[in-house]
Amino acid sequence: MRDPKAFLRAEYEELVKNGFNWELRELQGPSTPRCIVDGKEVIMLCSNNYLNLSNHPRLKEAAKKAVDTHGAGSGSVRAIAGNMDLHFQLEKAIARFKHTEASLYYQTGFAVNAGLIPQLVGKGDTVISDELNHGSIIDGVRLTKADRGVYPHSDMAGLEKALKEADKNNARRVLVITDGVFSMDGDIANMPGIVKLAEEYGAMSYVDDAHGEGVLGPDGRGIGPHFGLEGRIDVEMGTFSKALGVVGGLAAGSRDLVNFAFNRSRTWLLSGSAPPATAAACKASIEVLESEPQHVKTLWDNTNYFTKELKSIGFDTGHSETPITPVMCGESHKAKALSDAMMEDGVFALPIVFPMVARDKARIRTMMNAGLTREDLDKALEAFERNGKKVGIL
Ligand SMILES: *Cc1c(COP(=O)(O)O)cnc(C)c1O
Repeated sequence: MRDPKAFLRAEYEELVKNGFNWELRELQGPSTPRCIVDGKEVIMLCSNNYLNLSNHPRLKEAAKKAVDTHGAGSGSVRAIAGNMDLHFQLEKAIARFKHTEASLYYQTGFAVNAGLIPQLVGKGDTVISDELNHGSIIDGVRLTKADRGVYPHSDMAGLEKALKEADKNNARRVLVITDGVFSMDGDIANMPGIVKLAEEYGAMSYVDDAHGEGVLGPDGRGIGPHFGLEGRIDVEMGTFSKALGVVGGLAAGSRDLVNFAFNRSRTWLLSGSAPPATAAACKASIEVLESEPQHVKTLWDNTNYFTKELKSIGFDTGHSETPITPVMCGESHKAKALSDAMMEDGVFALPIVFPMVARDKARIRTMMNAGLTREDLDKALEAFERNGKKVGIL
């Protein structure tokens, strides 16, 4: 008789043996810049809560109030009976913020990519993707029957080659899709180059701005305004789970896009809608960005200081252009040893190792937060210097 469940333990043990398993740390209390992890106070350097909006009083108040006025849950999927005034109000706010005609709110950013990409292209079409795109884009692409082209990271000649190939194959529709900010290295996509080529070849452009919203552009409006490309990117996808401090996905663009997207995206149609507290907190996060630009400025001041100091200590910080700053370590075990030593010293910073990055490109990925003080940053820098020497990176 075969044992149908034996693989569960065997594969898990294999992961542990290779050091590829996740060990979950426990956050006790809110995700604040200084927070309690596994019973210890630490400086948080690996949350995506760039602007510390998850603790902003206006977001918390909006969430509490929505529970009182609308309850804990929405009751259904949006398409049936779970579409509340709060969802529509949020979508108006998103469109205003992104300067687009319309927007659609999904339960998560993952649900946008997995639900929308396979509807935009299908059999007879071509989807062209940067090789370093996020896993949720990769999964969205896997769900299409379209032909696939992958171009080397940020290589515009490679993108043009893939567009030519799609023309040669008489592709019916062509979709070019890219991360706005690449989350492992913190570099920014060449959006002007991508948009220009997409326009030239009659392709749709789609950007995943998960790490750009709240970070790039005036008032954190994202990669479109950062490059002055308003109105020229066909689909701007984003998330409320990072700088905006809550959870949820968005697609912003034309009214035609939104009408099409909500009638076709299976993740949107077949999955319950966000609860009132979430929708209300998301709307409040946009209002905070529109009225309190100081958070974005502080984020960048902190980033510039921290990266400059890391470099002057002697670390290789890769080619980041954003508040994601990698500290390159080389071998996986060095990244893990450095992260463990940092944790001992009260700094929570995550190692990123193979298979997420190449075997010899292991790193600690630091994510800046507008709520960290200069004193916090200096303490983290001191710990990096001390432990970098200890594990043999400096
Ligand atoms: C985090 C992330 C997502 C997923 O967004 P969620 O709203 O957390 O599901 C998608 N794309 C990129 C590039 C991301 O970094």
